Amino acid sequence: MNDTVRVRIAPAPSGSIHVGNARSALYNWLFARQHGGVFVLRVEDTDQKRVTDEAYAAVLEDLRWLGLQWDEGPGAGGDFGPYRQSERLGHYESAARDLIARGHAYPCYCTQEELAERRKLAQAAKRPPGYDGHCRSLTDEECAAYEAEGRAPAIRFRVPDDATVAFDDVVRGTVPTRTEQIPDFVILRSDGSPTYMLAATVDDIAMDITHIIRGEDLLPATPRQLLMREAMGITEVPVFGHLPLLISPDGRPLSKRWGDVAVDAYRRQGFLPEAMVNYLVLLGWSYDDRTNVFSVDELIEKFSLQRVGKNPATFDVNKLEWLNGHYIRSKSAGDLAEELVPFCVAAGIPADTDEGRATLRAVAPLVVERLKRLSEAPPMVRFLFEEVTPDERAAKVLEDQRDYLVEVAQALERLEKWTSVAIEEALRALAAGRGLKPKQAFQPIRAAVTGTLVSPPLFESLELLGKKRTLARLSAASK
Ligand code: GLU
Ligand code: ZN
Repeated sequence: MNDTVRVRIAPAPSGSIHVGNARSALYNWLFARQHGGVFVLRVEDTDQKRVTDEAYAAVLEDLRWLGLQWDEGPGAGGDFGPYRQSERLGHYESAARDLIARGHAYPCYCTQEELAERRKLAQAAKRPPGYDGHCRSLTDEECAAYEAEGRAPAIRFRVPDDATVAFDDVVRGTVPTRTEQIPDFVILRSDGSPTYMLAATVDDIAMDITHIIRGEDLLPATPRQLLMREAMGITEVPVFGHLPLLISPDGRPLSKRWGDVAVDAYRRQGFLPEAMVNYLVLLGWSYDDRTNVFSVDELIEKFSLQRVGKNPATFDVNKLEWLNGHYIRSKSAGDLAEELVPFCVAAGIPADTDEGRATLRAVAPLVVERLKRLSEAPPMVRFLFEEVTPDERAAKVLEDQRDYLVEVAQALERLEKWTSVAIEEALRALAAGRGLKPKQAFQPIRAAVTGTLVSPPLFESLELLGKKRTLARLSAASK
């Protein structure tokens, strides 16, 4: 094993990447950047039935969006390719043959039905439900007889009897497993395709992976993979770190009931990648008890596996929103406007022009404090782009306001300078004269001019909209 840190993520492309895998990717990427190492992307696409081109593209797109560019892998090249497992089938097949030749694996002719039947019996007799070793010591004649029946064997790994496999996990300390707990497992299916257990082991060896950092759900895979390494005659062992489970606020495994679990859902709702990265890193790692906001450069400097905890980490959308608000507010008006363009376009607002961008730049400082997600902006800024029809709540506020709105229009008509200060002065004077509280005075104006009650601050909104359009909308609402 060489001195260079080599880490990997190995997503199975079944669409947008799960937030748990995104966190693993981030931790691996940070670890590589920090150590001048290599971050490898290896795609687990041997299950051809499930992998579509779109799902494959979505994984790459999510990683790019998060800024987790891989040093080796699809599109990036590298000396250890190919990096799609579907292009490496020969390696797995020959590794399996090799294990058979050396007595570490054997053909298993049991059918699914036979296995299921015996599993039921074992359960009824309170014996462990795993594979019972039925084909462990078949003679050549017995094998030949099965073959003659037309059975195609799967290949199983022969787990050594009466042994302990232990490894030091950076997060969890020493993790020992007795081999009685590990039934002989399939490494090559009867159709010749490799299982995850075999393919991952072969590739981690072939790609010279030095550190395996992955979710705790894969903890049971590790002793199996270590046994296979040993059986393959590999003496060097990578460093393992198993990241804590992600749970929902109800303490159960992360589920869709509590919000989205796919990264692209967050992108579509207007979370910034810097907020997502900052949030993901906190799911299991902390620097101290106080600091929550970290730039990527700070993370590269400060992240360490030693500070990854064992306790499950709660995925809390409120905290993600809070961070997103922080990163939204730290953008310049120009940058924020640029981020908002696609969200406006998706909401049918023609903001994708020079004029539209200028409008968004002007309104950005007014909405920035109110945004937790970029997708919240279109309803707030729509009034600047098109004529308005009051929504339900606005319509309610507008009931019986005709006379008042006529007076408002007259007061604004008289203004010589169309500035938010002058507008505010005129409207406050009018309200005081009529004995109106601010809310009573200003909500109807907001409703008439913007069609909603969620617009940015009123006086600035009117200034931006311009005198002519403001008066026209007041007059339309007082008809
Ligand atoms: N495809 C596996 C997963 O995404 C990879 C497991 C591993 O990192 O070894 O869960
Ligand atoms: Zn069998």
